Amino acid sequence: MPKDGGTPPTGLDLSECEAEPIHLLGHIQPHGYLLALDADATRITHVSANIAGFLGQPPEAVLGKSLPDVLEAPVAQRLVDLIRGIGTRAGPTAATAVCPPGSSEPCAVTVHRHAGRLFVEVERLPAEETAPTVPALTAVPDSLAEMGDDVLHRLADRAVRAVAEETGYDRVMIYMFHPDWSGEVIAEMRRPEMVPYLGLRYPATDIPSQARQLFTLNLLRVIADVDARPVSIVAEPGTAEDAQAPDLSLSGLRSVSPYHLEYMRNMGVAASLTASIIIDGELWGMVACHHRRPRLTPPAQRAAVMRRVGDLVAHVKAQEQMEAVRRARAVDFAMGRLDRRLSEGQDPVSALLMGDQRLVEDLEAQGAMVAADGAMALVGRCPSGPVIARVLEMAARTDGPVFMTDALSAEIGAVGDGEGPNADEPVVGVSGDIAGCAVLVMSRAPLVAIAAFREPESRNVFWAGDPNKPAIREEGKERISPRNSFAAWRERVEDRSRPWERWCADLLTRAGTAVGRHVGADNPAEALGNAVRGLAMRFKDARTVPGGTLDAAGQGVLLTLRQSGHRARVVATNQTFLDLFDLEPGTIEGESLHTVAARIGLPDDLRRKVLSGPQTFDCWSRSLGRRALETVARNMLAVRDNGSVVEWDVFTFRDVTAFHRTAEALAAARDEAVTASRQKSEFLANVSHELKTPLNAIIGFSELIQSGRVGPTSDRVTDYARIIGEAGHHLLTMINDLLDLSRAEAGRQIIEDEPVNLTTLARDCLSWMRSQPRGDAVTWTPGGVPDGPLWVRGDSRALRRVLLNLLGNALKFTPDGGTVGLVVGHMGDGSVFLEARDTGIGIPADEVESIFQPFRRGKGANVSAREGAGLGLAMTKAMVDLHGGRITVESTVGTGSTFRVLLPRDRVLRSGSDPINPAQPA
Ligand code: ADP
Repeated sequence: MPKDGGTPPTGLDLSECEAEPIHLLGHIQPHGYLLALDADATRITHVSANIAGFLGQPPEAVLGKSLPDVLEAPVAQRLVDLIRGIGTRAGPTAATAVCPPGSSEPCAVTVHRHAGRLFVEVERLPAEETAPTVPALTAVPDSLAEMGDDVLHRLADRAVRAVAEETGYDRVMIYMFHPDWSGEVIAEMRRPEMVPYLGLRYPATDIPSQARQLFTLNLLRVIADVDARPVSIVAEPGTAEDAQAPDLSLSGLRSVSPYHLEYMRNMGVAASLTASIIIDGELWGMVACHHRRPRLTPPAQRAAVMRRVGDLVAHVKAQEQMEAVRRARAVDFAMGRLDRRLSEGQDPVSALLMGDQRLVEDLEAQGAMVAADGAMALVGRCPSGPVIARVLEMAARTDGPVFMTDALSAEIGAVGDGEGPNADEPVVGVSGDIAGCAVLVMSRAPLVAIAAFREPESRNVFWAGDPNKPAIREEGKERISPRNSFAAWRERVEDRSRPWERWCADLLTRAGTAVGRHVGADNPAEALGNAVRGLAMRFKDARTVPGGTLDAAGQGVLLTLRQSGHRARVVATNQTFLDLFDLEPGTIEGESLHTVAARIGLPDDLRRKVLSGPQTFDCWSRSLGRRALETVARNMLAVRDNGSVVEWDVFTFRDVTAFHRTAEALAAARDEAVTASRQKSEFLANVSHELKTPLNAIIGFSELIQSGRVGPTSDRVTDYARIIGEAGHHLLTMINDLLDLSRAEAGRQIIEDEPVNLTTLARDCLSWMRSQPRGDAVTWTPGGVPDGPLWVRGDSRALRRVLLNLLGNALKFTPDGGTVGLVVGHMGDGSVFLEARDTGIGIPADEVESIFQPFRRGKGANVSAREGAGLGLAMTKAMVDLHGGRITVESTVGTGSTFRVLLPRDRVLRSGSDPINPAQPA
């Protein structure tokens, strides 16, 4: 399994892609032509083979000539002016003008100087440069907006929205590169029927390094048509120029590597525009625009994209600067606090580790340590002894004062593996619980170090396609090919911590300097080692335990100590603790925790129990009666010195008797309410059941009369019988719905847990709806249901009902000529959505809440004119709830409604054709 941040392993040699000289492919895209001139711009040295199509002259008539020789005078003059304009500057300077050189079509002309040559590129423009009309683009889905609800995501979101509006591309995304060059889609606008890519990660190999390098030189890249035949560039035969293809690094028309073209085709993209986002000279990310049909993009739109990129860069930089200032302030503040503690006479180890707002909190870590002279003090969650030894060893060998990693197990190998806590190890942290460390080495021999530790942050990375197989080798093909599935592929990352930022190193270094200054240069190892031992001494005796250790407003506090190989014993308590248990001062200090627990009526394995999580115990107090006490314990400190380990735990006891009583009363009330509601549902179920029997008789007899089997009847009677039958059927449906609803509400509806292919189900429901009366009165938007399967765990009958209800309503509430559609797809977080959209009458804002309740129908005349009992949505919601899903609605009166059902990702079995491993816990 690849590490997040590492390059995924592949069975293939991807250096093949990296080695492709994409700037020397010697071809251009055919929607324009290219002339290369020598450095003085006097002689045309290269020309694209399609020149005749533009200038009416074959390449050999153009090569070796000057611009005025081959172009009409005014056009040539224009070009000469442009060239003069860019002067002798090399590098990515281009001037753009719209003029029609040698052609009546509108063209864009770009001139640049590169590698000792001048390049003139003339591109055909789209016939009309009109502002694109952008019908309904889908913005960030809500749940993702929530997920990435920070400034960067909002800025990126604004940028894609603007680019989509200004250019009209089908999909506009912003990728942000991670340190391993994988790219994550952080913002996206797309046509509603397209599968969202938001939140997906693309492996680094998708944009090989030489392509990334070109993106830093040439900031804008337009591919007009993936299926266009590239045009070769020719030079005068036999000349020096003929020997080598010109360097097209900065060319806009440069043709595209066949690998990349295939990649685009596999993604269903026919044309693209990519703009580099460069921050402080580094490729930070890209704006990527995709279109499903070939597309020429006029200069005005390209300029608009670049303007948006410029805005984004400015904002991101400002944001980063603000963040840096904020961090610097916080570091200054923390250092001020440390200095103050030291100058007030606190020993340096306490000043760094003990109490609130010390190293652990300042570094946003979970544990910290000071190690000196063979002794070490540890607080919070820290790795086990052997892991610490290995970490210190590595840190001492590393150049520079601070050693930081967010992937400890990858760095130190197997040391930590398989180690659990044992009797001699402090429980302060357990190996495997720590994934990151930042270690400041103050001195190497003897070793003095200050360190902080972070726990792993488990999270999902959603890759666009299996990152283990970014490319494939197809039978009979010489080259490797890009993968052909981009369906979301989940990777669970469990062994990394939040990465350490530069300010962390800063803070550690400055803390080290402050402490170093305080202990003096003589023998810092000895001074700090003594401070660790002094700290241990103080915490061993109730009389010297530092003030503050036993403070906790209104709560009982118990401090215990445990030495390797011995049982925990009580060091000290506060008065509240004594009061809670009717104890006299001085009667339990020094006793084993085991004995004390037995004496005050707590379990004798109190320590083990409470260290694994908060517990509530019932106790009896002579003065207070029966009490409920919530008990929390934390490892406060561990000290290791020459093989011996001592650790201190602090237990706090909170009297929660009052809460308990209230909670018990509430629970009783709730039980009563539940019983009442269940009785109501049962009553409904019984009544419905009783109604069904006579109703079936009514329907049966009306059918008998209609069939003529009871003897001849007049037309009128037959017609009445039909009406009775229809009304009966209607009533039966309603009763069935009620029965189901009451079952669901009473919690008696059991849903199946079978694999359901949502795309097949969706297509079935769509075709059923279209065959219904009025099915052809509306237009059904195509393409909302993906081609491949989409498997979920669920109840196919219930899900069918959900879809039919939503589509039925959409059809019912949309007047003739309107549009109805169903969209099924994945959210970036792996959950699945089903959306029924219509352009119907819409729902007033004050009705949106109530429509999911039984028998609530819209109040407007246009609702009452349509048939219905107001049970459909209540039923739909109950079914969705039973699946653990959610249903939401967005609606505007007169414009239309969108009902969205979200099924949680733990119901998703497979994504596209690539399995999202169902064995992986979500
Ligand atoms: P019914 O359709 O039988 O009235 P539902 O429970 O299915 O009952 O819907 C409740 C109400 O929600 C409807 O009466 C209507 O006011 C509103 N509603 C549901 N779907 C739509 C829709 N697609 N467009 C407009 N209004 C709708």
